[in-house]
Amino acid sequence: MPRTPYIAANWKMNKTIAEAAEFVDALLPRIAATQCDVVICPSYLALQEVVERRRGTAIRVAAQNMHEEDWGAFTGEVSAPMLGEIEVEAVVLGHSERRQFFNETDEALARKVPAALAAGLEPILCVGESEAARDGGETEEVLERQLQADLSGVEGADLSKVVIAYEPVWAIGTGRTATPEQAQEACAFIRDVVRMRGGAADELRILYGGSVKPANAAELLSKPDVDGALVGGAALDPGDFAGIVEAAG
Ligand code: PEP
Repeated sequence: MPRTPYIAANWKMNKTIAEAAEFVDALLPRIAATQCDVVICPSYLALQEVVERRRGTAIRVAAQNMHEEDWGAFTGEVSAPMLGEIEVEAVVLGHSERRQFFNETDEALARKVPAALAAGLEPILCVGESEAARDGGETEEVLERQLQADLSGVEGADLSKVVIAYEPVWAIGTGRTATPEQAQEACAFIRDVVRMRGGAADELRILYGGSVKPANAAELLSKPDVDGALVGGAALDPGDFAGIVEAAG
């Protein structure tokens, strides 16, 4: 069975509720015919607005983070059941900005990924090497270390319920895109790691993220192990994002 392409818009800390509504209204007619999974990741405050606006459409909604506990004294945090209550379907975990600026650790991710699955949310787990690691020839070592740690609490049978985003840190928001060959090599390696862990690796969706734009999407997505894209900057404009969805088929 071919894997359904998966294109996700990570808005980061952008778009008010009104702007989010405007985006969805502009995007919907442009992607009406798509066969892809299209996922929008707004800020917490705009989640419910996007959930309501996309009702009856193919768009799915993801949060950009969550806490690993279901409830408790964790000021400022939001849990998986809270996201599920407002019909959010997925959650980005381990984005490099959260690892870098908010001290997101592999230990926390090892708890977050199973917590998301237990609440019925699809985790979009981000992994990727720094520029120094790539230059030092340590890309695979970093990816393997992150995957083994972050997925340590997930049974083999559940591994393919996780979407993995390969996001080289040096390509995020920098305008420097990995070459299609670099993206393919890393995504194929990720699939192998999941296969070795006993997951249904052929069903696993692996995304590339890092300065994806309408102009480079088709080439990146043509690679056999690149099943979709996690898009930051170019996902802020409905026309650009629709162009990437279109490139995915
Ligand atoms: C991201 O935020 O996950 C991302 C890939 O950003 P950009 O597309 O702007 O590089």
